[in-house]
Amino acid sequence: MQPMYVSAPQMDTFTIVSWLRETSPYRLQELWRAADKVRRTHVGDEVHLRGLIEISNYCVRLCGYCGLQAGNRELQRYRMSEDEILECAHKALEYGYGTTVLQAGEDHGLTQEWIAQVVRRIKDETGLAVTLSLGERSYEDLAAWREAGADRYLLRFETSDPALYAAIHPGRGGKPASPDDRLQLLSDLRTLGYEVGSGIMVGIPGQTYQILAEDIEQFRKKDLDMIGVGPYIMHPNTPMGRGEGPAPAKGGQQVLGDELTVYKVIALTRLICPEANIPSTTALATINKERGRELGLQRGANIVMPNLTPVKYREMYEIYPDKACVNETAEMCRGCLTGRIEAIGRTLGSGPGGRQRQGGASQ
Ligand code: SAH
Repeated sequence: MQPMYVSAPQMDTFTIVSWLRETSPYRLQELWRAADKVRRTHVGDEVHLRGLIEISNYCVRLCGYCGLQAGNRELQRYRMSEDEILECAHKALEYGYGTTVLQAGEDHGLTQEWIAQVVRRIKDETGLAVTLSLGERSYEDLAAWREAGADRYLLRFETSDPALYAAIHPGRGGKPASPDDRLQLLSDLRTLGYEVGSGIMVGIPGQTYQILAEDIEQFRKKDLDMIGVGPYIMHPNTPMGRGEGPAPAKGGQQVLGDELTVYKVIALTRLICPEANIPSTTALATINKERGRELGLQRGANIVMPNLTPVKYREMYEIYPDKACVNETAEMCRGCLTGRIEAIGRTLGSGPGGRQRQGGASQ
C-alpha cells in the first residue's frame, strides 16, 4: 500500500474497503492519527454535547433490528408529556448543553401540531438548538416543525444497499422498502433548511465490506452535516433477533459489528467528510463501556449525546439490550461524560455547535 493511502477526498471505494479490512496495528495507528488530525483541523478540540430526550417508544414500523418495532409486544409503551419534555430541556440549558435532541419511534400519536408546540416552547423558553429524530414523517410535518423553529433532523438511511435495506425493512402499501425512501427525505430536509444528519449501523447480517464502503461514499454524496455510526446489536424480541433476517454474507465478506470496525468507519468518515459533526455513539459505548466513548472521540468523533430522559422511561427505550447508561440520572450522565472528555484533553463545546462550512459560514 502507498503512504498516500490515508489522504482523503480522493479515497475510492477500493481504498475504503482495504482500510475496513486492515488488521495491522501499525497501519491502523496511521488511520487513527490521520482522522484525529483532520478532526482537530476542521472541527477543533471542542466536544459538543447534545442532550437526548427519548420522548416516546411507540412505533408503527416493523424494522427488523429495532426493539421498538410495533411487533414487540413485550415492551411497555410510554409517551412523555409536554411538561416532562420541557423540564428535560431546561435541564439541558442548566447543564450547558447547546442542543436538545427529541427522539422517538415513528409515533403518529406525536401529531404535527403537538410537536410544533413543543418545539416552539423549547425555543422560546431555552433558546437551545432543537434536533428532531422522529422517523419518516410527511413533508408537511417536517415543514411545520422547521417553521416552528426546529434546526436539525436525524434520520439514518441504515444501509445504501437496496436488497439489504428491503430485507431489514418491510415494505408498505404493497411497495418494497428502499433506501431511496430515506435518501429522498434527507434531500427534502435540506430543501427545508434543516441541518441534516444520517448514518448507518455496522455489522448488519448481509452487510459486505463493499456495501459499507458505498455507505461511506453516500455520506460524502449527501454532504451530511451530522453522521452517526454505531454497531448493530441484536435484540431478541425482533425479527432479526429471532433469526428471520438476512443471512450473513459468505466468503469473508461479512462486516463484523465489533468495536474495531466501528472505529474504522468513524475514522474514514472523518477523513472523507472533514466538517461533519460525528458522535461517539451510545451503541459504541455499549459494546465497550470502559473506553468506547473516548476511543470514538480520539478516532474522529467530536460529539456526545448525554441522555436526559427521565430514568423511569429509559429502560423502556430499548432499541437494543443492555444499553450504556440506562440507570444513570441526567446529572450522572453529565458528570461522567464531562469527566471523560476532559480526561482525554478535550474541551466542552459551548453554543449550538452546528456545522461550520469551510470559510466560516455556518448554515
Ligand atoms: N424512529 C427513529 C429513531 C430510531 S432509533 C428513526 O427511525 O429514525 C435511532 C437509531 O438507532 C436507528 O436509526 C438505528 O440506526 C439505531 N438502532 C436501532 N436498533 C438498533 C440495534 N438493534 N442495534 C444498533 N442500533 C440500532
